Amino acid sequence: MGNYYQAEWETAPVEKMREHQGKLLKEQVAHTYKNVAYYRDLMDKAGVAPEDIQSVDDLHKLPFLTKDDLREAYPYGLLAVPLADCVRIQSTSGTTGRRVVAFYTQNDIDLWDECCARAIVAAGGTKEDVVHVSYGYGLFTGGPGLNGGSHKVGSLTLPMSSGNTERQIQFMTDLGSTILCCTPSYAAFLAESIKEMGLRDKIKLKAGIFGAEAWSEEMRRHIEKELGIRAFDIYGLTEISGPGVSFECEEQTGMHINEDHFIPEIINPNTGEVLPLGEKGELVFTSISKKAFPLLRYRTRDICVLSREKCSCGRTLIKMAKPMGRSDDMLIIRGVNVFPSQIETVLLSSGFEANYQLVVDRVNFSDTLEVKVELTPDMFSDTVSVIESKENEVVHKLKSVLGIQANVTLVAPKSIARSEGKAVRIIDNRAGKI
Ligand SMILES: [Zn+2]
Repeated sequence: MGNYYQAEWETAPVEKMREHQGKLLKEQVAHTYKNVAYYRDLMDKAGVAPEDIQSVDDLHKLPFLTKDDLREAYPYGLLAVPLADCVRIQSTSGTTGRRVVAFYTQNDIDLWDECCARAIVAAGGTKEDVVHVSYGYGLFTGGPGLNGGSHKVGSLTLPMSSGNTERQIQFMTDLGSTILCCTPSYAAFLAESIKEMGLRDKIKLKAGIFGAEAWSEEMRRHIEKELGIRAFDIYGLTEISGPGVSFECEEQTGMHINEDHFIPEIINPNTGEVLPLGEKGELVFTSISKKAFPLLRYRTRDICVLSREKCSCGRTLIKMAKPMGRSDDMLIIRGVNVFPSQIETVLLSSGFEANYQLVVDRVNFSDTLEVKVELTPDMFSDTVSVIESKENEVVHKLKSVLGIQANVTLVAPKSIARSEGKAVRIIDNRAGKI
């Protein structure tokens, strides 16, 4: 049994939670139907009235919302309260041209901060801790979310934001940061830099809360070993609030979903049918507590599995497995679905570090995949034949895991650009080529 930030909800009996969810869902549907014309139209078209939703059992009757709906309704079409009641927006990066703007009332922010506080406490955080937030601040939800959570816990918060790695490490050593919050790829880069600067014994980190990117178990073990910490996963998306929709506990076997705020479902992504507990499918969330931007049955495009197995931490909140990757990150190469996290697993299990890039191209009407990965400094001094056999090993493993042939290029240490936010893992040059 561990410590909880809000034991009443984190350890609530399943029946109590379900009743609570039903009550909030009913209110949320009525609120949304009344104030969001866009969703009212979707409900009318589906022939569903607010009265048809009396409990969680009725959730499946509601129409889905997708990222396309959000784009269509941009910027105010899904706003459910007067703009004067909103105090903040956050936004997605819009790298795919699909920027999403989410609105928050002060109460929505408080609830979001509490969700992040639960994640910090689950990672062992208390008011004695120094929480070092290296997620980006600004429109991106990572920095503001963990910052707010850290305040709620009462920890000393270092709002570092991303970038300026030397300053990050200086503050980390001078102010004794104990909990690091950033993307896993940046955590790996910080670990590498700390090692090079010979400062490993000067840092006091004990835990890290890493999210906003798909990462593998091998990456977790690598970061844990290099920084001497326990690395916890955190999940969220701007559309639903930000980080803290779910978080990992000391058991590290999946992330507990804050079910008193978000109802999860798993659906068949092709038919929309709700799948039984334990089956793999697309994750769908309904936000039942926040009022400014309430999304009902939002399709995340994340593929994962839910589980209600008893957790040793004492939390009764349902758990979601680490998503296989967002379908946005998924590459389709020669008709085969490829997730970068599968490639990462192969590389790390072969002794490489997580400094890699995937280059996809189309040559003579056929897709090609090149996996560029840096040799570690140790491997770099190996003989050519040792390096060649390493290369062959990776080619074979990739073939068996992905089912397609990839070209593997081993490059010198430090030759792939480092990122201080989300790593640039994929370069897809196929656009416009037949
Ligand atoms: Zn747990």
